[in-house]
Amino acid sequence: MTNTTRNRRIALTAVWAAIGALVFFVFPYKAPVRGKTTPPAQIDLQPFSDVPHQRVTDIYNALKNKDSNIHLLAPLPLPANAWYAPRNRYRADSLLAWLSKRATEGRTIIAITTSDVSSTKGTHADWGVIGLGYTPGNACIVSSYRLSKSNTTAQWIKICLHELGHTRGLPHCKVANCYMRDAEGHNVADELTGFCADCAAYLGSKPGLLFTGI
Ligand SMILES: [Zn+2]
Ligand SMILES: [Zn+2]
Repeated sequence: MTNTTRNRRIALTAVWAAIGALVFFVFPYKAPVRGKTTPPAQIDLQPFSDVPHQRVTDIYNALKNKDSNIHLLAPLPLPANAWYAPRNRYRADSLLAWLSKRATEGRTIIAITTSDVSSTKGTHADWGVIGLGYTPGNACIVSSYRLSKSNTTAQWIKICLHELGHTRGLPHCKVANCYMRDAEGHNVADELTGFCADCAAYLGSKPGLLFTGI
């Protein structure tokens, strides 16, 4: 190797090192953050102000029994921009987008309301739903509007667990008494007894929600 070649190589190496340092400086390495594929583990219960206080307390206590890492937030009015005037109800998808933005980093927000909520389902542009949750994601909502009037709290809690299951990444389940069963437009909450073995194993493999005792 001649001196000229060696000097050229040293110069080139120095240039690459400088570029590397510049790239690192401009684009510093960032550890992967918990994002869409690994949803947040901790829960905030967000009651909307139409839910009676006692009902909020009952749902909070029941969910806390399943997962002690849950916090109760102060009630908020339903956001006006989610109102869907043609059907006199709120769009659940708009509420989810609103809630998702409010959710604290690393936490999942579950909202409860007594108001009717709807979403687009297949060919139905505005379909009334009991609940809706990102699968996976950091927000879900459950409405009591379509629940039994005599058994409301028990049903409400089961649907909360269904939607929280979605936020952990669980899809619908074929097992008839599993919390993750697809209601397919009906209220089947009384038939649900818990997460089936497969769904429970999936949740058990995820950090955060333990759902003990289900
Ligand atoms: Zn579902
Ligand atoms: Zn299941």
